[in-house]
Amino acid sequence: MCMEKIKRNVLLNPGPATTTDTVKYAQVVPDICPREKEFAGMMKRLRTDLLKVAHAPEDRFTSVLFCGSGTINIDICLNSLLPEGRKVLVVNNGAYSSRAVEVCEYYGLPHIDLKSSVYERPDLKEVKKALHDNPDIYMVYTTHHETGTGILNPIREIGALAHEHGAIFVVDTTSSLGMIPFDMVEDNVDFCMASAQKGLQAMTGLSFIVGNIEEICKSKDYPKRSYYCNLYMQYDCFEQTGEMHFTPPVQTIYATMQALKEYFEEGEENKFARHRRVFNAIHKGIEELGLKDVIKHEWQSGLVVSVLYPDHPNWNFEKVHDYCYERGFTIYPGKISTTNTFRLCALGTIDEQDIRDFFAVLKEALHTFNIQLK
Ligand SMILES: *Cc1c(COP(=O)(O)O)cnc(C)c1O
Repeated sequence: MCMEKIKRNVLLNPGPATTTDTVKYAQVVPDICPREKEFAGMMKRLRTDLLKVAHAPEDRFTSVLFCGSGTINIDICLNSLLPEGRKVLVVNNGAYSSRAVEVCEYYGLPHIDLKSSVYERPDLKEVKKALHDNPDIYMVYTTHHETGTGILNPIREIGALAHEHGAIFVVDTTSSLGMIPFDMVEDNVDFCMASAQKGLQAMTGLSFIVGNIEEICKSKDYPKRSYYCNLYMQYDCFEQTGEMHFTPPVQTIYATMQALKEYFEEGEENKFARHRRVFNAIHKGIEELGLKDVIKHEWQSGLVVSVLYPDHPNWNFEKVHDYCYERGFTIYPGKISTTNTFRLCALGTIDEQDIRDFFAVLKEALHTFNIQLK
């Protein structure tokens, strides 16, 4: 097969992320029926690799694959893992934990929305108090890296509080897993989740939950709130047959296998270091241009920088976006309702030089539209 180089776009949005050509081409395979043993064998290896990425010991944890975007994991964990008559505590300081609250509302799940400022980390004293005041809480839920702002939440501490209380701890790690050091056991997490197009640098359409086997087995007898999105049903199907209950995203699974190969080749530590380099380059770039970020530095994840719109009459995000987009760089609007921001993210197969190239283009854009800063 002739593998032509594919136009490379630098995606500075918070996923899907820039991928390698080898991952893109891994999708071009002979047609296969996913009910074949060959395909089941590949998914088995994939599930084992995902446990390694999350540092989840095989004797206590499993990974379950789903066909869908990352939000399917949020839906599944919440609707599947709550026993009758018990409550969810959502530690909510941003858009993605708010999404979990919405899921609770849709299913009518008893829940507490422990909402706090999107500009700050949650207050552990409040978490402790909520747990103390509500002995019926069964699940504590939060987001590791709030992609909307770029805040990294103290999951290890929240997990310890949940466990002290006897609750399970479910964490949305969609925009951190495979990019920021994470350890299922040390971080006190019972369930984490992500999708292939973020930290793994693969394609869209495959999402997965890594979770505690004992809790999944217990959930067999919990109220059934969804047919398609039930964790036990999918887990059981994998255990019995090695297959997804319904049609898997075949080509995305091939791409994810290749992406995992590249993940282990690059090495966890090297990959963390690369994302960190990109993040530092973003900070250097915004400082040099006189732009300002909105989240306290020590709280930032190292993956997303929320940048304030410059205070200049000629600033127009759409125009600047389009200028950059036409030149191969994608920037992304913010997700803070009260402040006008845009986001620059360090996901994907990009490095420092890409960021330097981007800032050269951004500078040109500001010049073209007559936006003087500083
Ligand atoms: C991207 C992301 C999701 C999933 O969003 P989809 O649009 O469904 O892929 C969930 N949580 C977080 C924290 C994310 O960054």
